This record gives sequence, structure tokens and C-alpha cells, in this order.
Amino acid sequence: MIEIDNVHKHFGTLHVLKGVSLNVKKGEVLSMIGGSGSGKSTMLMCINGLEGIQKGSISVDGIDVHAKATDLNKLRRRIGIVFQQWNAFPHLTVLENVMLAPRKVLGKSKQEAEAIAVQQLGHVGLGEKLRAFPSRLSGGQQQRMAIARALAMSPDYMLFDEVTSALDPQLVGEVLDTLRMLSKEGMTMIVVTHEMRFAREVSDRVAFFCQGQIHELGTPEQIFDSPQKPETADFLRSVL
Ligand code: ADP
Ligand code: MG
Repeated sequence: MIEIDNVHKHFGTLHVLKGVSLNVKKGEVLSMIGGSGSGKSTMLMCINGLEGIQKGSISVDGIDVHAKATDLNKLRRRIGIVFQQWNAFPHLTVLENVMLAPRKVLGKSKQEAEAIAVQQLGHVGLGEKLRAFPSRLSGGQQQRMAIARALAMSPDYMLFDEVTSALDPQLVGEVLDTLRMLSKEGMTMIVVTHEMRFAREVSDRVAFFCQGQIHELGTPEQIFDSPQKPETADFLRSVL
């Protein structure tokens, strides 16, 4: 379980997260929606310790992410994160790219790492592309490779930050299908997305971010069909 309690985050004088509290249970899919600059990406970075916080706490399965004694590298193995774009190593094949982390971070043998990578690439539908180079993949295939790479670490949690935003519209579906599959398999996920129909369909709960706070939190039905706050309604009108 991810427990976020009254988190404040500043970048210099900029107060970016202003008291965010939220729990994400095992197996839950939580979508974060909201305007640009509302703090969604920063929130994800704080959850896996890529960014520090100034007040409050975040714990993952009871481990305080920002405590000095916490082994962040160890913690991050359990929290996969996929961004809008991931620059794969161009001189390595798709298979080799996905093998890297299990090899280097988990210390797996070459054979073990290869077996893991083959399995995860098959899982995201890239079983035919093992020997291809990343530059030969479509944008959607590259994003699925990035997801396979994260899954190769056997994470307990997956964080997705606008993973379809850089894609041509016709490639969005295949990446969302992959996320759908993971949610059906019971993966605990936080998904920052502009794809409102997708958020509505896969999420157990939706958090609407506005100016560094969770302005409204509820089931997809509550948020999309009967938002309680005018800011939520305005945002939805602007994107739907
Ligand atoms: P969102 O993902 O919702 O668009 P972000 O979390 O990226 O929002 O950004 C929230 C605010 O924090 C924005 O005002 C952004 O400019 C600022 N910000 C994000 N990252 C940094 C950084 N590394 N240094 C300074 N300001 C940042
Ligand atoms: Mg963002």
C-alpha cells in the first residue's frame, strides 16, 4: 500500500504540492488527472524518491520513502515508473535493452535476464521484435518496450506518467491496451493521463489535481458524472 500523508513539496520558492494525502491499496488503479502544472508528475517523482519532500510523509508498504535510513535503490526496484518518453540505448537490441536492469540492478545471470526479458516483451506483445533496434520501433512499440523494461524488475507498483501523450493518435490504443491488461492482472497502478475515457474505464478511483492539491477524489462515476467542485467540472469541460 502507498500512503501519502500531507505532503508538501517546494522547488525553491515555488510551492508545488500543498498538502497532498492519498492512500493507494494493493491491486488498486488510481488515475491522476488535472491541468498542466498542477503537480501530478512531481507527485509521482516523490513517491519513488526521485524528488525529496519538505513536509509530510510517503510510505510504501510501511517503508518511509524519504527517511534517511531508507535504501532508495532497493525501494525503487519495487516501483516501476514509465514516462512520456524513454530513450532506449540505440546500439542495443530491444531484448538487450530490457535485459539491462535485471542484469545490472538485480544481478541476474545473462540467461536469467534474457528469460525475464523475453517473457516481459512477449507479455506486451513485442515477442517478434526481440532482435530489432529501438529506432525501428513505432512510438507505441517503444512505449511498450519501456513498460516491459519496468516489468522486468518484477515491481509491486507501477507509475505511469502520460505514457501516451507523445504518441500519434493511432498508436495510443495499443499502449492503453497494455495498461488495461496489467490492471486486469491485478497490478497496483497510478496512472497520470489525459485519456479521460481510459481513466473512467480502468480506474478504481480518480484524483483531480488542481494547484498542487487533490481537489477532488472519487470513483470514476463520481468524478466524471457528478463532480462536486466547480474546478473539476471546468477541467472536464475543457478536456472532454
Ligand atoms: P504536471 O505534471 O501536473 O503538469 P508538474 O508536477 O510537472 O505538473 O509541475 C508542477 C509545477 O512544478 C510546475 O509549476 C512546474 O513548472 C514546476 N516544476 C516541476 N519540476 C520542476 C523542477 N525540477 N524545478 C523547478 N520547478 C519544477
Ligand atoms: Mg506532468
